[in-house]
Amino acid sequence: MKYIDEFNDPELAKRLLDDIHATVTRPWAIMEVCGGQTHSIIRHGIDQLIPELVEMIHGPGCPVCVTPLELIDKALAIAARPEVIFCSFGDMLRVPGSHQDLFRIKSEGGDVRVVYSPLDALRVARDNPDRQVVFFGIGFETTAPPNAMTVYQAAQLNIPNFSMLVSHVRVPPAIEAIMSSPTCRVQAFLAAGHVCSVMGTSEYPGLVEKFSVPIVVTGFEPLDILEGIRRTVHQLEAGTAELDNAYLRAAPAAGNPAARRLLDDVFEITDRGWRGIGVIPGSGWRLSPKYRAFDAEYRFQVSDIDTEESTLCRSGEVLQGFIKPHQCAAFGTTCTPRNPLGATMVSNEGACAAYYLYRRLESTPRPDGRREVASIG
Ligand code: SF4
Repeated sequence: MKYIDEFNDPELAKRLLDDIHATVTRPWAIMEVCGGQTHSIIRHGIDQLIPELVEMIHGPGCPVCVTPLELIDKALAIAARPEVIFCSFGDMLRVPGSHQDLFRIKSEGGDVRVVYSPLDALRVARDNPDRQVVFFGIGFETTAPPNAMTVYQAAQLNIPNFSMLVSHVRVPPAIEAIMSSPTCRVQAFLAAGHVCSVMGTSEYPGLVEKFSVPIVVTGFEPLDILEGIRRTVHQLEAGTAELDNAYLRAAPAAGNPAARRLLDDVFEITDRGWRGIGVIPGSGWRLSPKYRAFDAEYRFQVSDIDTEESTLCRSGEVLQGFIKPHQCAAFGTTCTPRNPLGATMVSNEGACAAYYLYRRLESTPRPDGRREVASIG
């Protein structure tokens, strides 16, 4: 398939790997920001093929994983109301709140519907003028434009029974928070290519300069990831710190200007809590005052929410790269994709789900110096 097969070529992969092995002389810790990149790395065994001296730290770039518990509980409170049709992408239905999830609300009679686009939810609102239709709008800069477009259209078409529960997050403030942590081990970043397809790269030079950290914009196919790592270790070994774009085919420096204009109109920047991490200043978007009438948090006044995080779940440590998923005692035992304790085991992009899916239980060195991975069973 065009644009897929040529980025899976084993010969080219070997050449990139040879270059990486020939370059690396010291230990380095590189964070891939996006959960999609994490899955690609684990699925293709890239972390086992690169030199042992290079550690891949799995970053917080999974929208389902970082949606704060408080917001999940607000979604549950709204979805349980009899006048509400609550629309969401499917992966949010199993994310555990303090006491239940959206599946439980649905099984108890709540009108919870899976949609494949926010515009589907808008259509539901037009078809049900006597009901309140709420869309759960979460995600990074990648899902923000269609959500913004949906709110814009709701306003243009005057659909007053539509609203959105918004929990959008932004990557650059998260990188700043990670680098500012006194326990930070990250020495370089593979930035998420699709985020840069929307936002461009203008937010990164300041971070590169402030923290002297190489940032390489990277795609998602195996060769994309290897090329991102290759460019990163060349910078690290040379002692340089620059912004580099290894995903130019999809992420121009200016991003998508039309999408950015829409985002500036519909959203405003706000502080946002990240599940397991805490509040990161300026790291989120909420609806701007012009569109506040479509904000489900205001419409339904869901305050007084008492959240209760699982005491077993260590997803916050996973999301910050302090532990690997298999180092959590609940991994694969009391926490599985069927019965997740934390959002990182639910989502397609969650690191715990990736380790479970691809049978990573532990990583031990083999006599030949390469890595061996034990399986769950
Ligand atoms: S394995 Fe489960 S309990 Fe442990 S950190 Fe991951 S999601 Fe949380």
